[in-house]
Amino acid sequence: MVKVNENYSNIKETYLFTETARKIKSFSQKNPDVNVIKLSIGDVTRPLVNSVVDSMGKAVEEMRHMETFKGYGPEQGYTFLKEKIQNYYKTQMGVNLDINDIFISDGAKSDLGNITDIFSNDNVIGVTDPVYPVYVDSNIMCGRKIVYLKADETNNFLPMPNENIKADIFYLCSPNNPTGAVYSYDQLKIWVDYANRNKSIILFDAAYERFVKTNNPRSIFEIEGSKTCAIEFCSFSKTAGFTGTRCGYTVVPKELIVGEYCLNKMWLRRQTTKFNGVSYVVQKAAEAVFTNEGAKEIDETINYYRENARIIVDTLSRLNIKFYGGINSPYIWFEVPKEFTSWEFFDYLLENAGVAGTPGSGFGECGEGYFRITSFNTHDNTKIAMERIEKLFKK
Ligand SMILES: *Cc1c(COP(=O)(O)O)cnc(C)c1O
Repeated sequence: MVKVNENYSNIKETYLFTETARKIKSFSQKNPDVNVIKLSIGDVTRPLVNSVVDSMGKAVEEMRHMETFKGYGPEQGYTFLKEKIQNYYKTQMGVNLDINDIFISDGAKSDLGNITDIFSNDNVIGVTDPVYPVYVDSNIMCGRKIVYLKADETNNFLPMPNENIKADIFYLCSPNNPTGAVYSYDQLKIWVDYANRNKSIILFDAAYERFVKTNNPRSIFEIEGSKTCAIEFCSFSKTAGFTGTRCGYTVVPKELIVGEYCLNKMWLRRQTTKFNGVSYVVQKAAEAVFTNEGAKEIDETINYYRENARIIVDTLSRLNIKFYGGINSPYIWFEVPKEFTSWEFFDYLLENAGVAGTPGSGFGECGEGYFRITSFNTHDNTKIAMERIEKLFKK
């Protein structure tokens, strides 16, 4: 008789976004006159930029003609796109990557989930709390043990390695979702040295790297020694509005050797076996992100979100509310007034200001007492939402 993967029964129902959506809908039905502003969205709101759409359009046209039509492409991505990414690391971050260390994906989430394939199931996994749920659930599916590194005020939501926490694989996300916190060069150097010393691996999620504005690392590979202990996941989703278009990349350095195994070779084998690559049209769209014009347009979009973040941060500062993020991140993470739990504050804000956010406790136990709002909305909506919050708090 067939047996299923019973580990699936150990996954917690992620009711966070269904529950917030349900509450928003129920409130809106009872209060049709209130225009609820959603600062709960973890998805971009600005459209694709012209360079990207033009490039995609040209690629679509190529598919129409026998001479330029493309069938299967390389599973690990077209060289034209990998070269642009290689050049981006070199010119923007001073990082030299071998072209074969770059793997084009249909987004960071797929690769973050699929990377579990190349590691044994008896590895212990270290994640931060609060956490992006994909890291946890994809490992529970393999039956792996998970340990949590507390991210809280005492460490500015940036947990450091701790000799008491024994894990083989650590997930780090910087700039962080949900807290917006970003590691410094010194902090990542400590992580890299720790991982090399303990023969552990860092899976680094750099999905928000283009939001980094201050002098902080955008890639783990800016840190000396990282190529022997880290894999990096990146995405065009938040940086270039590809959440619905789907493209990302993963960097697995050839220097990453475990025993007699080269992880780059294993990942190549995994991808060529189970993945047939990202469509030509989408890779052509992504290529435009690296042209001068494309990069300029992308920056304008990111600056649009930054302006929203500034409006939010200014308001929270005026109200003396302690917050994190918002500078190098589209997310702002703030302390809810002491008398509320995260969920109580969600209800309070929705019912009294018509503003929706995300309760921190939905991202892990350490998120209790905090609240996430995002800059993925229009300037007007962000301003109105902040005016409403300011009025509510000054009551
Ligand atoms: C949005 C997001 C991603 C990107 O996922 P895609 O599959 O590329 O859309 C990855 N990591 C984090 C932390 C995110 O918030």
